[in-house]
Amino acid sequence: MPVEDEYSFVCPYCSAEISIGVDVTAGRRQSFTTDCEVCCQPISIRLTVESDGVTAFNAERES
Ligand SMILES: [Zn+2]
Repeated sequence: MPVEDEYSFVCPYCSAEISIGVDVTAGRRQSFTTDCEVCCQPISIRLTVESDGVTAFNAERES
């Protein structure tokens, strides 16, 4: 299993498809904020990592 899993999602602001590298060793449940590489708005990310990679992924506008 690779240490980093590439995950693609749609920006909740501009609907661009962007991809991020998820550090699957950082924990089973992760939440962090990343900036959209297209519109530079802060996106709140919540995800769950299982042994086969990212299984649940939620990207929404930071409130
Ligand atoms: Zn965007």
